[in-house]
Amino acid sequence: MQYDVVVIGSGPGGYVAAIRCSQLGFKTAIIEKYNAMGGTCLNVGCIPSKALLDSSEHYYNAVHHFEEHGITTGKVKADLSKMIERKGGVVKKMNDGITYLMKKNKIDVKNGFGSFVDKNTIKIAKEDGSEEQITGKNIIIATGSKPTILPFMNYDKTRIITSTEALKLQELPKHLVVIGAGVIGAELGSVYARLGSKVTFVEFADGMIPTMDKTMGKELQKSIKKLGAEFYFNTKVSLIENLGKEVKITAEDKDGKKVEILGDYCLVSIGRRPYVDNLNLEAVGVATERGKVLVNEHTLQTNVPNIYAIGDVVRGAMLAHKAEEEGVFVAETIAGQKPHINYNLIPGVVYTWPEVAAVGKTEEELKAAGVAYKSGSFPFKALGRATASGDVDGLVKVLADKNTDEILGVHIIGARAADMIGEAVTAMEFRASAEDISRISHAHPTYLEAMKEACLAATENRAIHS
Ligand code: FAD
Ligand code: NAD
Repeated sequence: MQYDVVVIGSGPGGYVAAIRCSQLGFKTAIIEKYNAMGGTCLNVGCIPSKALLDSSEHYYNAVHHFEEHGITTGKVKADLSKMIERKGGVVKKMNDGITYLMKKNKIDVKNGFGSFVDKNTIKIAKEDGSEEQITGKNIIIATGSKPTILPFMNYDKTRIITSTEALKLQELPKHLVVIGAGVIGAELGSVYARLGSKVTFVEFADGMIPTMDKTMGKELQKSIKKLGAEFYFNTKVSLIENLGKEVKITAEDKDGKKVEILGDYCLVSIGRRPYVDNLNLEAVGVATERGKVLVNEHTLQTNVPNIYAIGDVVRGAMLAHKAEEEGVFVAETIAGQKPHINYNLIPGVVYTWPEVAAVGKTEEELKAAGVAYKSGSFPFKALGRATASGDVDGLVKVLADKNTDEILGVHIIGARAADMIGEAVTAMEFRASAEDISRISHAHPTYLEAMKEACLAATENRAIHS
C-alpha cells in the first residue's frame, strides 16, 4: 500500500501528526507496536499518573483536611488495587477515544513493530509472526522514549522499578526509595507518600526538580516534607540490590561519605532516553546523536529529506504538548506551509500538590545570560481564594526585563498552578509586560489574582495585598 505519510508511533506526537496529515488531505497510516494507542503519555505516563495523583489526593484530603472543613467520616481506607483498576478504566476510555479519532479521520492503523527497509518502505512485524510492508512518500518517526536505567541499578521490574511498574504496584510500599527527585520522582513519590508509604529521595543535584527555577524546588521540598518524605541531595547512587523482601541502595554524598538505605521498593526516575531500538535507521542513514534523532530546526526533517522526527525522540523537552506541537508542525511543513513553534514558551508542569508550573526563563538562566531583570512575587497565603479553600502553600514569581518590563519567565507553585500558567503563556506569546497583566481585571476571588499581584510587585513593587 502506498501512503502520502506513514507515522511510526501513536503517542501524542504520532497520533496528532496523523490527524493533521489527514486533515490536510494526505493518505495516512500509523504504526503502533502495542495493541493500545496513545503511547507513553496515555498508557504509562501523563494520564495514569494523574489518575493516581488525583485518587491519592482525595484520600489524603479525606484523612487530613475534611475535618477542618467540618466533614466527619468513618475510618478512611486507601484501596490501592481499586485505585489502579480505576486508572486502567481511565486509560482504556482514552485508548478507545484515539481509536475513534483514527477511524473518523480515515487513518489506517497498523499494529506491529515498524522498521525501515529503505527511505520509503517500512516493514511491520506483527504479533502473530506475519509481516507487511507499506510505503510512504514521507515518514514521521515518533517512537518516543524509555526510562534511563544504569546497569548497576539492577532493574528487575519487581522491587527495583521504573514509573511503568510504579503505576501498577500490587501492594503499598512500606518504604519507597526514589532515585532522582525530578518530575517523575516528585509526582509518583507524592502518590505513595500520600497513601502512607515512607518515601526517601536520593538526588544527584542539590535540590528537587533541579532544572526548574530554584525557588520552586525549595518550596516543593517543603510541601513534600510535610508528607513525611526524607531527602538525600548531592548524593550519587553506586549500587541498587534486591535482597528478596528488601532493596538496598548504596550511595555516596558529596563529601565522599557512604550512604546506605534499606527500603522495600526502589523507583528509578533519573530521566528518559530516546527510543530508536531496532528501527533500522542504519538502513537509511538517518543521523542520531546520543540516541536522539537529529533534525533540521526549521523543518524537523532528518538528514534524509522525506523522513521527519518529532517528540521525545528528538531534542528538547520530553513533554506531551511539545510532541503534539511538533506533530502539527511536521504535517503542515509536508503540506508546504510555514508553521512555527516557540520553544521558549512550552510550559512545564509538575502535578504534585501544590502543583508547580513554569514558562520562559528561570532566574538562574537570566543571571547566567547576564540579562538585566527584575522580579516580583506574591504568596498564595495572601489570597482570599486560597484561604477559603485552605490551599495556602505557594507563590507566583514573575521575572521581567528591567528596562522594557517584558515578562521573561513565570514560575508558580500552588493550587491549580497547571491551569494558571496558561495566562502567562498567552501573555508571553503576545510579549506582554508585567504592567500589562497587572492592569487586566482578574476575577475575585481566584488563584489567578496571585499572577496579577506578582506582576504588580514586578512593576514597581505595587502589589496591593502584601
Ligand atoms: P511516546 O508517547 O513515547 O509514543 C511513542 C510510541 O511509539 C509508543 O506507543 C511506542 O510503543 C511506539 N513505538 C516505538 N517504536 C516503535 C516501532 N518501531 N514501531 C511501532 N511503534 C513504535 N508529559 C506531559 O506533558 N505531561 C505529563 O503530565 C507527563 N507525565 C508523564 C508521566 C510519566 C510517568 C511519564 C513516563 C511521562 C510523562 N510525560 C508527561 C511525558 C510524555 O509521556 C512524553 O513526553 C510523550 O509521551 C512523548 O510523546 P511521543 O509521541 O514523542 O512518544
Ligand atoms: P527528570 O530529568 O525530570 O529528573 C531526573 C532526576 O534524576 C534529576 O533531578 C537528576 O538530577 C536526577 N538524577 C540523574 N541521575 C541520577 C543518579 N545517578 N542518581 C541520583 N539522581 C540522579 O526525569 P524523570 O523524572 O525521570 O522524567 C523523565 C521525563 O519525563 C522528563 O523529561 C519529564 O519532562 C517527563 N515527565 C513529565 C511530566 C510532566 O510533565 N508532569 C511528568 C513525568 C515525566
